[in-house]
Amino acid sequence: MDMDIDESARSAYDAVVVGGGAAGLSAALALGRARRSVLVVDAGEPRNAPAAHMHGYLSRDGMSPADFLATGRREVAAYGVELAEDRVTEAVADASEGFGVRLASGRAVHARRLIVTTGLVDELPAVEGVAERWGRDVLHCPYCHGWEVRDQPFGVIATSALSTHQALMVSQWSNDVTFFLHTVDTLPDEDWRRLAAAGVSVVVGEVAGVVVEDDRLTGVRLTDGRVHPRSAVFVAPRFRPRDGLLTALGARTDETPYGPFVAVDETGRTSVPGVWAAGNATGPAEQVVNAASAGYRAGVTVNADLLFADVDAKATA
Ligand SMILES: Cc1cc2nc3c(=O)[nH]c(=O)nc-3n(C[C@H](O)[C@H](O)[C@H](O)COP(=O)(O)OP(=O)(O)OC[C@H]3O[C@@H](n4cnc5c(N)ncnc54)[C@H](O)[C@@H]3O)c2cc1C
Repeated sequence: MDMDIDESARSAYDAVVVGGGAAGLSAALALGRARRSVLVVDAGEPRNAPAAHMHGYLSRDGMSPADFLATGRREVAAYGVELAEDRVTEAVADASEGFGVRLASGRAVHARRLIVTTGLVDELPAVEGVAERWGRDVLHCPYCHGWEVRDQPFGVIATSALSTHQALMVSQWSNDVTFFLHTVDTLPDEDWRRLAAAGVSVVVGEVAGVVVEDDRLTGVRLTDGRVHPRSAVFVAPRFRPRDGLLTALGARTDETPYGPFVAVDETGRTSVPGVWAAGNATGPAEQVVNAASAGYRAGVTVNADLLFADVDAKATA
């Protein structure tokens, strides 16, 4: 399917990067420095936006996620990368072995290669207060926030049997961990043995909500009215990759313990020729540094792919 490509603005790019988080900007940095024409389209909803600080990125530890991305945008713009605050609504392969890309603003452009770094959506359990406190004192990743709440009384609200792993993991940051089974009925015997060995207490019963006083989480309330004093709560969201553009292009997805994710090789190449993906769009465990690394690698590989396509075409001619 061909698109009505916009002739009024620059309309053809070596690469269009969909998503301007750590993965997308890192891909753009590699491509911009390789003197490629690049458009980054970003809808401005990075996954860690609810958190005030970003941790675990060497040399940027503690920086605000917004400042981190603003710095990244400045850096890539210095190499001529074009940035659009917009949303890609459609990408279709066209006759030129490239892609027609349509933006919500109505702009349509052509990309020789596509790099999709659209991240994922964290679907939180429908427990009162969890969404409101997300990224503050309701957390999911101890590597991101565990240090900041170390030694405090933790709660872990189970969202599936896999939550045992989270309850065990956070016991590295506090020796006062209560695991609320919530709607999980049973655990394997091995889990009970491990939880006991790690000193994690287990509470059976459904959680109604988190208790908040003076803008601070102070407890976990069960549906029977019991309140357990806690000051930080961990939950595992359900991860929903923003992979609609990729699946519409026919990208293969693989089943993972966290649900289906688009399959990529070590360079981010998907099963669709000319389409790369990186960051949380391809897996929930990618932290900022990993997403940046994967994006950078995709950018480098796309540059090589373009180079060899052009060299081979000339050699054949
Ligand atoms: C509360 C919280 C705190 C976190 N804290 C940390 C931390 O301290 N340290 C750490 O390493 N990791 C942390 N993470 C994980 C971190 O958020 C991810 O590792 C990181 O955001 C992944 O980068 P990404 O580029 O893949 O995706 P994102 O950062 O989510 O960026 C994707 C971008 O693509 C855009 N987009 C989506 N669809 C489209 C479209 N169709 N068109 C245009 N743009 C689109 C989105 O709006 C978004 O801006 C945290 C996560 C959460 C939920």
